[in-house]
Amino acid sequence: MLVVTLLGTGSPIPDPHRAGPATLIQGGKENYLVDAGRGVLMRLAAVGGSINTISAVLLTHLHSDHITDLNDIITSSWILNRPGDRTQTKPLQVVGPPGTREVIAGIISSLSLDISYRMAHHDVLTGPPEINIIEIEDGAVNLGGQVRIRVAATDHRPVEPTIGFRFDYEKEAVVVAGDTVPCPGLDELCKGADALVHTAMRKDIIGNLPNQPMARDILSYHSSVEEASQTAARAEMDTLILTHYIPTFPPDGGDDWMKIAAQHFSGSIELGNDLHRVEIHKP
Ligand SMILES: [Zn+2]
Ligand SMILES: [Zn+2]
Repeated sequence: MLVVTLLGTGSPIPDPHRAGPATLIQGGKENYLVDAGRGVLMRLAAVGGSINTISAVLLTHLHSDHITDLNDIITSSWILNRPGDRTQTKPLQVVGPPGTREVIAGIISSLSLDISYRMAHHDVLTGPPEINIIEIEDGAVNLGGQVRIRVAATDHRPVEPTIGFRFDYEKEAVVVAGDTVPCPGLDELCKGADALVHTAMRKDIIGNLPNQPMARDILSYHSSVEEASQTAARAEMDTLILTHYIPTFPPDGGDDWMKIAAQHFSGSIELGNDLHRVEIHKP
């Protein structure tokens, strides 16, 4: 069984009910965090998790809304993820597209004063945060666990490169698409998988906002609800899980999104609030 938890269902616009983009994928004892949006560690704590339980952080792309709290993850991992006698930190594993190394170097640089304060104050901190980084655009990622992870290119141009992740564990497979329009790389990843976690926007609403040129710009590189649903339908998947709602809807809303998705996808459709949990298991 694989378990999907939508830790943050929001978008770049701050929302009192929705944290930034982040999804937790759990298979067996392994926990993978896909993207690190605003409030990710708070939401992780809300489901009983912590940075110590995370096997790896996987980034679909380097847009700010997907990495705002990567600095929090880096510092929290450095300070808190200290198994055994607590004298040593467990290195943080991050997987992302090319550019990830540059972003992390920038975060570490911005934290340099904090790192020096803490190292001067705590004897057990003998070095700066240790981070293993894998940059990848396509292919298998071997992190040594039981959950098999595969990456393929998505299409979020002009943001390049961007990637989606597929998780295979026992009989189940889940794909996390990130921000993308329909594309061959994502279709390939979805083939034979059971569930698709996809960011989605209502182009019918955003495309008709008056005097919002920046809102109209984002139409071209996100999937509409219809397009995300059609991607899941093409791969004959069982479950579509929508997230990263643009525009947001109230905590008890989303029926209209559900109706649109159901016109294009006949499987089960999941959407909702932060911490929405979906178990993917075949009989
Ligand atoms: Zn994006
Ligand atoms: Zn985004």
